[in-house]
Amino acid sequence: MTMPAWLRQRLGEFDRAVQLRSCPSCGAKLLQGLDSDRAGIPVRCDLAPVDELGEAIAVLTNRLTYDLIPAKGRRELERRRAWHISQPRRYSVVVAHKCGHPLPEMQTAHIERSREANEEAPPF
Ligand SMILES: [Zn+2]
Repeated sequence: MTMPAWLRQRLGEFDRAVQLRSCPSCGAKLLQGLDSDRAGIPVRCDLAPVDELGEAIAVLTNRLTYDLIPAKGRRELERRRAWHISQPRRYSVVVAHKCGHPLPEMQTAHIERSREANEEAPPF
């Protein structure tokens, strides 16, 4: 039996769709999907998107970052390279999951608060 053309055309359409999963090691909720259309590697990312500072922290700690790209009613992960990181963002950015080391949203907020506190401090 041959596969109908319409089915063959749609085959793989949802292969790259990001799925909500739990980490088998630490149980954290995360996003899981392939990182490209061809020879995609399965990746797991933390749920919380990061801002530019969070991405800088991720890169400095040897963690990969991914664009969370909307496509055909679903989301796909696409690895961010240096040329993506240096350009204005087009999508939400998430960080590769590392058990027990969630990228600190709190730390980012803390740094923001510290910066605000320093702006209020007298310049002497
Ligand atoms: Zn984990």
